[in-house]
Amino acid sequence: MFWCLKCNTEMLPDKNSVGLLFGNGGHVYPSDRFKCPSCNHLILKTNATASFDPELSFQDEYVGANEAAIEKLKNLEVVSETP
Ligand SMILES: [Zn+2]
Repeated sequence: MFWCLKCNTEMLPDKNSVGLLFGNGGHVYPSDRFKCPSCNHLILKTNATASFDPELSFQDEYVGANEAAIEKLKNLEVVSETP
């Protein structure tokens, strides 16, 4: 269980398959997103270990501290699909 201390409320599952890009090298922590039904605060519960997902293709959605790296990897994926 995840508990929002601000609202004294249980946070509820919001979305599965959210990838947390950690750094620039394609290391992604598969995660589930939880949301507080009162204040809408969001958190990620990540797996213990990262997977190597350089094309950002394993998860439904990606987030990370480095948005520029996510955009770069997404662009690489588009380029790799072009014949
Ligand atoms: Zn809350």
